[in-house]
Amino acid sequence: MDMIREGLLTKEEALARVKPEHITGLLYPRIDEKYLREKGIKPLAKGLNASPGAATGRVVFDADTAVKWAEKGEKVILVREETKPDDVHGFYASQGILTSRGGMTSHASVVARAIGKPAVVGAEEVRIDYDRREFRVGNVAVREGDVITIDGFTGEVYLGEIPTAKTELPREFFDLLEMADEIRRLGVRANADTPEDARIAREFGAEGIGLLRTERMFRKPERLQIFQKVIMARDQRERREALRELIPHLKRDFLDIFRVMEGLKVTVRLFDPPLHEFLPNPEDLLEKICDARMKGDEEEVGRLEYVLKRVRELKEANPMMGHRGVRVGVTNPEIYEAQTRAIAEAYLELRKEGKDLHLQIMIPQVCDYREIEYVKKKAIEPVLKELGVNAAIGTMIEVVRACLTADKIAREADFFSFGTNDLTQGTFTFSRDDVENKFMADYLDKGILDFDVFQSLDFEGVGELMKIAVRKGKEANPNLEIGICGEHGGDPRSIEFCHLIGLDYVSASPYRVPVARLAAAHAVLREKGVEFPEY
Ligand code: PEP
Ligand code: MG
Repeated sequence: MDMIREGLLTKEEALARVKPEHITGLLYPRIDEKYLREKGIKPLAKGLNASPGAATGRVVFDADTAVKWAEKGEKVILVREETKPDDVHGFYASQGILTSRGGMTSHASVVARAIGKPAVVGAEEVRIDYDRREFRVGNVAVREGDVITIDGFTGEVYLGEIPTAKTELPREFFDLLEMADEIRRLGVRANADTPEDARIAREFGAEGIGLLRTERMFRKPERLQIFQKVIMARDQRERREALRELIPHLKRDFLDIFRVMEGLKVTVRLFDPPLHEFLPNPEDLLEKICDARMKGDEEEVGRLEYVLKRVRELKEANPMMGHRGVRVGVTNPEIYEAQTRAIAEAYLELRKEGKDLHLQIMIPQVCDYREIEYVKKKAIEPVLKELGVNAAIGTMIEVVRACLTADKIAREADFFSFGTNDLTQGTFTFSRDDVENKFMADYLDKGILDFDVFQSLDFEGVGELMKIAVRKGKEANPNLEIGICGEHGGDPRSIEFCHLIGLDYVSASPYRVPVARLAAAHAVLREKGVEFPEY
């Protein structure tokens, strides 16, 4: 910035000198490398560098303990084999997350990046024994309460405390990004599903929410029970009754986020995961049935046996390709209807407060335009009409067939948002939760892939599908707005591709918003032929 002021560099030349890593490096604490060298400290284990930053804390093995210890003022690292949405309260309470399984788009990775917590995932040498409350790496045992340090930049895990340094963000950081905003054509939004995420995103310059995942709203303890009643319902009447109980809770969550995003676009995605994820696991249920039987509580036995029956009915061989997303909306339109009602009521409440925003409702996992037609007619439009609310209705494009039939889909949609996590999974038939720990390293070592396609877009395959969808979509509906909300939306190389194929915006996790702003400006500069220095 000094060099611009002194006339030594143009704004464009200056922006070209700043690399995305420079921005990322400023946002997160780093391990003091000099300290490691001087003391000759070697890592205990290594996993994937899923979310940047370094963190030190006492090991805890479950989310509730993380919260309890954090309330007492302890700094903790949540260590799990893998994480589930029920663990998210533990993420907020922890300094960082370590898992022994999972890949770069697994739950732990996505959530940690979204909320800016350092994470190392898939550290396979880490063997956790939950019963003994310890993990082992070879002969070394680390017990609950022992201190470890994780480095989300390198994926390394250390015993004990390693000093870190956090840089204060200089004013120039924000000035530089404003310069990038003047140049970029792509919009930059954020993936955010809590008011905290939304606030961080907005502070970092997000121009709206490109993906508000709604599933965590169903998992908060008091709601999970009600939602389980929805799933267990014997008929539609019972299901609707349970959903009615849920609406005020959902509405409150929407309103909290809408307030933060006043004036901006907010894209709310309707329910996406398979229903069985919301039910207890069969082993726990069997145990509870035994307990109830021992106590002679026949009524409880009957109730639990019914739950177990439903859990077994809902079990699928391939849940990722199963009864999820819009397929749940088609079979149970009342779920989408209830969500739409909560969204619309929250929106009206916001308006009563004298505030406004641009509402967008997004349907996930669409493979055929008739799915959209059906849920719009059965679940979404009647509610919007009844309440007099205007909202754009659009779809995720995350299924291969949706790309290939994008013209038909575009006639039913106001916007597309590429879900490149699922689209990459579907294009390669690589499980997004497993690939990085199973064969990705071999594919990279042996030169079969040049990079991890779940982190950076595969232009030749997934990118071709995106191009088809953009072309067909815009031809059929020239007003179609097109964005991306998969993890690639925060990756600089992928952002340049999105710029080149004519997307309107990218949506990235809050801590990647600054990088996305810079990368979007870089895309314009490269297109203009501005020279980028090599270091
Ligand atoms: C995607 O598939 O890219 C996406 C954004 O949705 P999710 O990660 O929630 O499946
Ligand atoms: Mg998806």
